[in-house]
Amino acid sequence: MDLRFTDEEVAFRNEVRSFIRENVPDDVTAALRDGRHVSKDGMVRWTRILNAKGWSVPHWPVEHGGTGWKPIEQYIFQDEMQQAPAPQMLPFGHNMVAPVIYTFGNDTQKAKYLPRIANLDDWWCQGFSEPGAGSDLASLTTRAVRDGDHYVVNGQKTWTTLGQHADWIFCLVRTDPDAPKKQMGISFLLIDMTTPGVTVRPIQTIDGGHEVNEVFFDDVRVPVENLVGEENKGWDYAKFLLGHERVGIARVGGSKERIRRLKEIARLEFAGQTPVWENRRFREKVAAVEVELKALEMTQLRVVSAEAKRGHDGKPDPASSILKIKGSELQQATTELLMEAIGPYALPYEPEREDGRNEPPVGPDYAASLAPAYFNYRKVSIYGGSNEIQKSIIAKAILGL
Ligand SMILES: Cc1cc2nc3c(=O)[nH]c(=O)nc-3n(C[C@H](O)[C@H](O)[C@H](O)COP(=O)(O)OP(=O)(O)OC[C@H]3O[C@@H](n4cnc5c(N)ncnc54)[C@H](O)[C@@H]3O)c2cc1C
Repeated sequence: MDLRFTDEEVAFRNEVRSFIRENVPDDVTAALRDGRHVSKDGMVRWTRILNAKGWSVPHWPVEHGGTGWKPIEQYIFQDEMQQAPAPQMLPFGHNMVAPVIYTFGNDTQKAKYLPRIANLDDWWCQGFSEPGAGSDLASLTTRAVRDGDHYVVNGQKTWTTLGQHADWIFCLVRTDPDAPKKQMGISFLLIDMTTPGVTVRPIQTIDGGHEVNEVFFDDVRVPVENLVGEENKGWDYAKFLLGHERVGIARVGGSKERIRRLKEIARLEFAGQTPVWENRRFREKVAAVEVELKALEMTQLRVVSAEAKRGHDGKPDPASSILKIKGSELQQATTELLMEAIGPYALPYEPEREDGRNEPPVGPDYAASLAPAYFNYRKVSIYGGSNEIQKSIIAKAILGL
């Protein structure tokens, strides 16, 4: 296996880097660099810039707008996006529901939804988890009962990321409660968020932000044409989707960018009379994280290289579970080191308040967002399948235990 980049791949990286850095809006990069949330408007503007260039959905099949790039080119593109830093495309449309629609949907659904996803004309959210169904997703109880040419949906979803902005939600619903196995009675339904009976309630997270929601369905009438694929086959489509969710989850480029920022800040901050960066113990901790990050990057390249050899078969490599675990641990480690670098300025933070009456930050401006970002990143070892669940996948699929 040869992990070196060819001359063509280096040239491709330079082209991608120049385009991204010249075109990502300044306010969007600034938000990412400071660890703040990118606004809906910022996400829409950036997606449309990429879509105009033909790069918003590079991993889709060419007939639906994909670029036809090889896996290594897809990898380089993601790496450059994360390092710029530029926002990743909204995953719920681009990486989750779209592959399900172009693989299992009918022609009408493909024509109706895919171009609008590519341009972020529709904001999608993911309605899988419920209060009693997270890791054990197949226990979900949201019901869809057929009534003529509609399904009537009742139930509740939770942890719905950015559902407050959403035009559409893709949901797993139970259509056959008497199926012999709970996985067999589930269907995949697309629901317009403006349908009467849909209610979105915010969940405030520990960083003070509003990123996740509860979504309630009370007698929501959904046209039968919004069913994707076959009734009661939704579990197969969900497994396919969750494989796509893990693509790029290691966020190596994002961690590299955070380490760069960490070094900048550690040179500006003082512990006593000396800059934090002069502290040998601190530098050792940063080096240890960088070494692990390099190892993760090599593992990621091995996964990409193996996929390039066998051809993309649509199935996730079980090694992507290793990327998820290690990637999330390193994302958390980098946010912890940032907190250490700014020391006491990390403590008195006032979360973003919706009434705008925030206390001014104590200490330098860049310190204000670091504590919320630290708290926010506790989530990365939970979503997309918790790290404990990923360890079970490794035990079964890789180690054969
Ligand atoms: C910030 C955030 C955003 C999210 N966004 C979305 C979204 O947009 N849409 C959506 O549908 N869901 C979303 N989720 C939900 C996410 O997928 C679930 O939180 C996750 O699958 C875990 O489920 P749970 O929260 O019910 O925890 P549980 O399943 O109750 O797990 C609790 C703990 O027990 C452990 N555990 C559970 N089962 C096992 C087992 N068999 N072996 C070992 N350990 C186990 C888990 O690892 C965890 O530590 C989001 C979650 C977070 C935190």
